[in-house]
Amino acid sequence: MTADLLVPRWADWPLCQAAPTGTPGCIGAQLDQDQPCFVHSHSDARAAELGRLWGGSGWLGFLLGIEVTEELLAEVFAAVPIRDGRTVLRFADFRGARFQGTAGFDRAIFEGGAWFDRATFQGDAGFSGARFQRVAEAFRHRDVRFGRASFHGKVRFDEATFQGNSEFRAATFHRDASFAGARFEGTTRFDRAVFQGDAGFRTASFHGGGGFARASFHGKAWFEQARFQGATGFGEARFQGTTRFDEASFQGDADFRTTSFQDKASFDGASFYGRAWFDQATFQGDADFRTASFQDEARFDQVSGTIHR
Ligand SMILES: [Zn+2]
Repeated sequence: MTADLLVPRWADWPLCQAAPTGTPGCIGAQLDQDQPCFVHSHSDARAAELGRLWGGSGWLGFLLGIEVTEELLAEVFAAVPIRDGRTVLRFADFRGARFQGTAGFDRAIFEGGAWFDRATFQGDAGFSGARFQRVAEAFRHRDVRFGRASFHGKVRFDEATFQGNSEFRAATFHRDASFAGARFEGTTRFDRAVFQGDAGFRTASFHGGGGFARASFHGKAWFEQARFQGATGFGEARFQGTTRFDEASFQGDADFRTTSFQDKASFDGASFYGRAWFDQATFQGDADFRTASFQDEARFDQVSGTIHR
């Protein structure tokens, strides 16, 4: 097998390729045409790149496919503006990056989009209180993307604000992930995401529609007092642990068709203002809808298991 075959097809940027003989080439992005990546460049080139981060147009676009150590992240944070004690990052492109140690982005402000597609977080990932600002429609890199990212440590997005669209499609959370009080203002996609630990979405709000279709929750899933304002899709999702939607409110249609709840499922005081579809859902534990309210059509056709309504 040649080294070329080991380069993943999704690494579609000009590759650094620096590598000792016989090992796969580095998939870091070239700093400049025919130049190695940030890590494999000389210190002058690295300093010049970091220097460009300060000032107006500094895009964080040189860390694709790179091994990001805590030291490297600290160097980057020291080179970007700080506003009210918060790190300000412009368009941040971390596609395919591999974070070693803790990735500490708590309270950071992302002024452009933030792309973390297929990034790997080996340690904890902290995005608590981070603000992902909305960017003009014309801006090509505007969304927040964590598609197929893989989180091996604890993940915290508590009270984070996503002003534009955000997507976590097929992301894998190997340990607990908390999005408590997070505010998703655009469309939000967690379709096919895998939560191997607990998933915490207490008091989170979804303003532009939320998608968790075919997501799987292996631990507990907390959605108490979550607010879903657009259409919400949990179709074919799998909840293996205790699941709580107590006092959650669904302003748009809520789709739970073919969803399976393998442990206790509680919808105490949940409010459904749009249509609520639970057709062909499976409830293996206790399913409590006794104090849930349905303002529109509520369908529970061909449900298996026992539901208290
Ligand atoms: Zn390299």
